[in-house]
Amino acid sequence: MTETVLVTGGAGYIGSHMTLSLLEAGIQVVVLDNLCNSTAESLRRIERICGKAPVFIQGDIRNNAILDNIFTEHRIDAVLHFAGLKAVGESVQKPLDYYSNNVAGSLNLYQAMARAGVFHLVFSSSATVYGEPEQMPISENAPIGTPTNPYGRSKLMVEELLKDLAHSDPRWSIALLRYFNPIGAHESGLIGEDPNGIPNNLLPYISQVSIGKLKELAVFGNDYSTRDGTGIRDYIHVVDLADGHLKALQAISTQSGIHVWNLGTGTGYSVLEMIKAFEHASGVPVPYRIAPRRPGDIAECWADPSKAARELGWQAKRGLEEMMLDTWRWQSGNPQGYME
Ligand code: NAD
Ligand code: UDP
Repeated sequence: MTETVLVTGGAGYIGSHMTLSLLEAGIQVVVLDNLCNSTAESLRRIERICGKAPVFIQGDIRNNAILDNIFTEHRIDAVLHFAGLKAVGESVQKPLDYYSNNVAGSLNLYQAMARAGVFHLVFSSSATVYGEPEQMPISENAPIGTPTNPYGRSKLMVEELLKDLAHSDPRWSIALLRYFNPIGAHESGLIGEDPNGIPNNLLPYISQVSIGKLKELAVFGNDYSTRDGTGIRDYIHVVDLADGHLKALQAISTQSGIHVWNLGTGTGYSVLEMIKAFEHASGVPVPYRIAPRRPGDIAECWADPSKAARELGWQAKRGLEEMMLDTWRWQSGNPQGYME
């Protein structure tokens, strides 16, 4: 039985939704986050939603003393590891930061887990590890590709490290979850994605245009060989994503080894379809212009989520309209994000 978990990066976008789902499921949560890309306000909002709060420790996954202290003070059954840096463009400019936080930080965390005798781990990986896949939809046994940037390579390195670890010692029980494109927000409108500065990802950009914070969206390329020429992705509601983690956590509590699951919906939408769906949900126009392709982007990417359905009994439940309504509720209710 999983009673207490450590969530690294639990104040961030996905980690905060995860923390809420865990608390709602009756699991105690210790959050470790250095707040380099988040604020502790997300944790206070979680308490407003569910009446329960995680234990919060502000600190870095690269700090051994903090990690050892957490594992001594709390009876941690499993770790959900979200902490890390995630901006693709920034990773090209600052590779050392990315390898330090994402690779060295993860390594440090796993060493601390081993010292403490905690061998259950859920790791946030990404569909980016598939590189430019030859076939759609992408199943877990599609070949691993060649990520085109340090961020993607950092995820791949950690996956490889974890495979070696699981093969070296049968006590480890590890879920590698490859996310497609998480969007949306909790239905309360109290927690959501709050990027620093100008957003890199499509949905935060669209929603900031819709409230007038940004002037117009640049659509990166309309000459891909897709149905309308714009890029196609598999967008998944962040609450469905958190549910997938709960199921993965259950699964690894009873089986050892390393398991890879795609977390996606199995349906792809183009950039233009996303703009239209957002406008429909919000009732607000989203001005856009067609711009050149963004270097490193692929034409299309969507999941075959059937392995997770078969093995975890999980599938995404929330459709595009709900994703858009929830994004809009969060963005319109919190135009400055967590800064009130
Ligand atoms: P996020 O930036 O909102 O959350 C990450 C959290 O980790 C932040 O709160 C940040 O302050 C914290 N953090 C970063 N470095 C840390 C360190 N060294 N020590 C302690 N805390 C640290 O990002 P997110 O979107 O919630 O992503 C969570 C995880 O999921 C990341 O590992 C990311 O790479 C992965 N992922 C995200 C997406 C996506 O589109 N959002 C897609 C695939 C994978
Ligand atoms: N995109 C876009 N304009 C933006 C941001 C993204 O046209 O300002 C497109 C991008 O080219 C891709 C899709 O939206 O086709 C999703 O991009 P995002 O950065 O959100 O996710 P990822 O590239 O990681 O799949």
